[in-house]
Amino acid sequence: GSLPGWHRVEELVRKAHARNLAHDEGVVASYIPVLAHADPERFGLCVAEADGPVHAVGDSDLEFSVQSISKAFVFALVCQAWGREVVSDRVGVNNTGLAFNSVMALELNDGHPMNPMVNAGALATTALMPGESFAEQWENLRSGLSRFAGRQLELDGEVFRSESATNTRNKAIARLLQSYGHLELDPLGVVDVYTRQCALRVSARDLAVMGATLADGGVNPVTGDQVVSGQVCQDTLAVLASTGMYERSGRWLFEIGLPAKSGVSGGIVAIAPGKGAIGTYSARLDRAGNSVRGQRATAHLSRALGLNVFASS
Ligand code: GLU
Repeated sequence: GSLPGWHRVEELVRKAHARNLAHDEGVVASYIPVLAHADPERFGLCVAEADGPVHAVGDSDLEFSVQSISKAFVFALVCQAWGREVVSDRVGVNNTGLAFNSVMALELNDGHPMNPMVNAGALATTALMPGESFAEQWENLRSGLSRFAGRQLELDGEVFRSESATNTRNKAIARLLQSYGHLELDPLGVVDVYTRQCALRVSARDLAVMGATLADGGVNPVTGDQVVSGQVCQDTLAVLASTGMYERSGRWLFEIGLPAKSGVSGGIVAIAPGKGAIGTYSARLDRAGNSVRGQRATAHLSRALGLNVFASS
């Protein structure tokens, strides 16, 4: 990688954490009831370098449900299984410009999901996970995401039950996909696997290692495991660049210049190809659903480490 030496990176990660610790803007998500119980003071920040070193500060080992960040890694697994053409045809690779749970996005495009990083497209992507049954798809999904993290990820049963009891809108989106002929499996079964994927427990450290695997041509820099191909990483990062930060994706790319994915529980992963990744956790969100402290700390590090992919000088 071309990051500065270990001590310099360590110092910058500590500074980015300390500088943003006092920020308390934003609101903790509550539409999934149990998420409202998150402690908004917790703040984890971690950088994983593509050649192995990991810099973890603050609450980097605190676990939370991965939520939408799972979409990036499930997309990669599905591309690995079926190839980029199949996935870009069946799911799409464009930003919808609409909220993550929008039904309009489907209605405006003859039921084509368009964007694998928001719910309709993510449900269509999860349905493409290899496996003969929903149980097998779930096992493959969990073991695939665990390989990205380099450790066995566990389901948060409380988050899964809380979301399962309240996710009428995702069930409606799955039915709508089915009505347009874009979902061949039982819609409620697909929603169940999707809801489980969102309830996997990760830490900021896990997110950094998962992201660094995408930055490292699909090789987990901690375990050495080749999880997906280099082509799959390239394709996944291209999709994240245009769609990873909800309706703020354009603004994010303009300010920070890194492919990234956020989730409503407060995690963000940002990937610097060939260099490494930044994982953050802080539960207070902006109106699009992106962690406020996470965005600030990532912006700080992107600038300080010179990570912006568009910078040429
Ligand atoms: N499980 C959440 C949902 O489907 C994920 C939302 C998100 O993180 O954007 O509503």
